[in-house]
Amino acid sequence: MKIHEYQGKALFRQSGVPVLEGIMAKTPDDAVAAYEKLGGKIAVVKAQIHAGGRGKGTIKDNADQRGVVVCKSADEVRAAAAALIGKTLVTIQTGEEGKVVNQIFVEAGCDIARELYLGIVVDRAAMKPVLMVSTEGGVEIETVAEETPELIFKEHFDPAVGLEAFQVRKLCKKLGITGAAAKAASKFMPAICRFFVDFDCSMCEINPLVITGDEQMVALDAKIDFDSNALFRHKDLLELRDLSEEEPSEVRASESGLSYVKLEGNIGCLVNGAGLAMSTMDIIKYHGGQPANFLDVGGGANAQQVTEAFRILLSDPNCKGVLVNIFGGIARCTTIASAIIEASKTVGFTVPLVVRLEGTEVEEGRKMLAESDVDIITATDITDAAEKIVAATK
Ligand code: ADP
Ligand code: MG
Repeated sequence: MKIHEYQGKALFRQSGVPVLEGIMAKTPDDAVAAYEKLGGKIAVVKAQIHAGGRGKGTIKDNADQRGVVVCKSADEVRAAAAALIGKTLVTIQTGEEGKVVNQIFVEAGCDIARELYLGIVVDRAAMKPVLMVSTEGGVEIETVAEETPELIFKEHFDPAVGLEAFQVRKLCKKLGITGAAAKAASKFMPAICRFFVDFDCSMCEINPLVITGDEQMVALDAKIDFDSNALFRHKDLLELRDLSEEEPSEVRASESGLSYVKLEGNIGCLVNGAGLAMSTMDIIKYHGGQPANFLDVGGGANAQQVTEAFRILLSDPNCKGVLVNIFGGIARCTTIASAIIEASKTVGFTVPLVVRLEGTEVEEGRKMLAESDVDIITATDITDAAEKIVAATK
């Protein structure tokens, strides 16, 4: 679950990670009031969307309007707010369609001496979180990783222990940080690592991490992704969820207990179990197709969930065919078969449907499908299924 920059910074503040003063606003009037409250000097108006690249991004049909605007007066704040709120911002991370800006963050202006990069993710291979920092802040980190990977410095840390003092010293040396700034880093870096663990983040990125003119360290940006599987431990975080930022079909799926991720391809996949879903996507690709989604209906899928799954898949205009790949372990093949028959009546299949069933009550399930008038292409195994759906959608 992603959150907005202003929400992330409020959590940072509570966790001892330094940020500047700032106030969220939903109207130009509120933005001006926020500006006055911040002291009426230099302020930065920042579009709040769940995507980065706002500084370089532009408003649709207004190519001169960037998503981050430095303002020196109330009039400039009002103009920037009016030009952003309710408009669509297109950045390198939003795709061409962009995202509607529903609120802005009015933040105190920062005296930037250096822009660094800081990111934390879970390194699955090392089975630990890893802190990554770079001298190349404010730049697309993907570009740095590709062109000058030697400028990214990493330290793994134990979630129970946190980032240790010697690790901070090591990183400061590599970043060329000394004196008061190094002292600031000795507080900042362990605090952000603790934040990452305490809130069960899957990703936390501060780009830029700034060293100010008076050698303090502040988080000038905040991009946070929480591990959804751990949200049950953080009920208060759920209030921060902004459904308008999420893919509508994914929201719908999560309401029915389905794990669904929309992708770019044209073959819809209806599968039970995350591992089987991933191998189904792999085998579709292996045979030259492109999956339109990841969809795990869960081990104990019922008819209502399967029907909803079909609805979601078929409402995607890119979906030119559906591959049903079910291993009946907990769910019986007969349950799935009757759900498919039911869905064909209530949803109506408009594209080719390839079905591969295996497992508990498979013979009865296959018989039910054969005797029904649902127009399906049956497959004997996963390879056969992949070949057939790729052929049917070519
Ligand atoms: P994004 O990553 O979406 O482009 P950032 O929050 O990183 O958005 O802002 C983009 C750039 O704007 C930063 O690299 C920084 O140079 C500048 N900036 C952001 N916030 C402030 C601020 N409070 N004061 C001064 N400059 C800022
Ligand atoms: Mg940024």
